[in-house]
Amino acid sequence: MGIKMKINKNLTTVNYNKGSGTGRIKYIVIHYTANNGDTAWGNTNYFKSVNRNASAHYFVDENEVWQCVEDKDIAWHCGTTGKYYHSCCRNANSLGVELCSEKDSKGKSYFTKATVKLAAELVRWLMAKYDVSIENVIRHYDVTHKNCPAPFVENVMAWGNFKDMLITEGDDEMVCKTDFNCCGKNIEMDRILKDSRNYIYLRDLEKTGLFRVTYNEKTKTPGLEFLLKDIPIEIDGETKTVKGLNVNGTNIVGLRDFCNALGNMEIDYKDGPVIIRQ
Ligand SMILES: [Zn+2]
Repeated sequence: MGIKMKINKNLTTVNYNKGSGTGRIKYIVIHYTANNGDTAWGNTNYFKSVNRNASAHYFVDENEVWQCVEDKDIAWHCGTTGKYYHSCCRNANSLGVELCSEKDSKGKSYFTKATVKLAAELVRWLMAKYDVSIENVIRHYDVTHKNCPAPFVENVMAWGNFKDMLITEGDDEMVCKTDFNCCGKNIEMDRILKDSRNYIYLRDLEKTGLFRVTYNEKTKTPGLEFLLKDIPIEIDGETKTVKGLNVNGTNIVGLRDFCNALGNMEIDYKDGPVIIRQ
């Protein structure tokens, strides 16, 4: 990974549940501290050893990132005894990131540019690390309708700008779910943006149904097997070959190819029924 995030740790001993590991992480939930000029370290200290019935994984201020709960463990940041407005995101499958906030003369909370920038760096890094897509970076508000983070709930444009920062800035690698059309098949694959190049996972090509990803133990070389094969078919005692796939043990063949193999059969894909005629 290109970016080197400096993460300081001051882990809480009480405000978390043991988690199952980082494989649990599907969402990143953004919060604000609702304080005025607090620091990331100060927050971790507040949650350190007294039971607060709350916590988050990370706190970000203008200068530093401090971690309060390990990524593999479950922080108490978006749970509710009330109604959930998000169908999937819960404490158990998310990371909580708190941005330290300021208040203006009218008591309205805001984030400084520096805090937003550092938080964006952290979230980009976490997205890449745990393969969290941009649509799975959400606000506390999106989970429970709490006015959190207020600067991103009351100003939807500011939230949009923050999300834009997650996909456009930085020199770290980014992973985002993208629709591809591969050999005529529409599939969603992870698109990895790194050093201004696009990458995909080799294994994702299997989703097209056209390839199988192989691995040669001897040579330690990955490989691709093109599944579209010549399937021999005996027609009137004569063996012909038709392009086809073996899907879950069943052969499927290209219709046009099949008609050609039958000889002087024509196929018509015009509107209405597919017509096969001699
Ligand atoms: Zn919150």
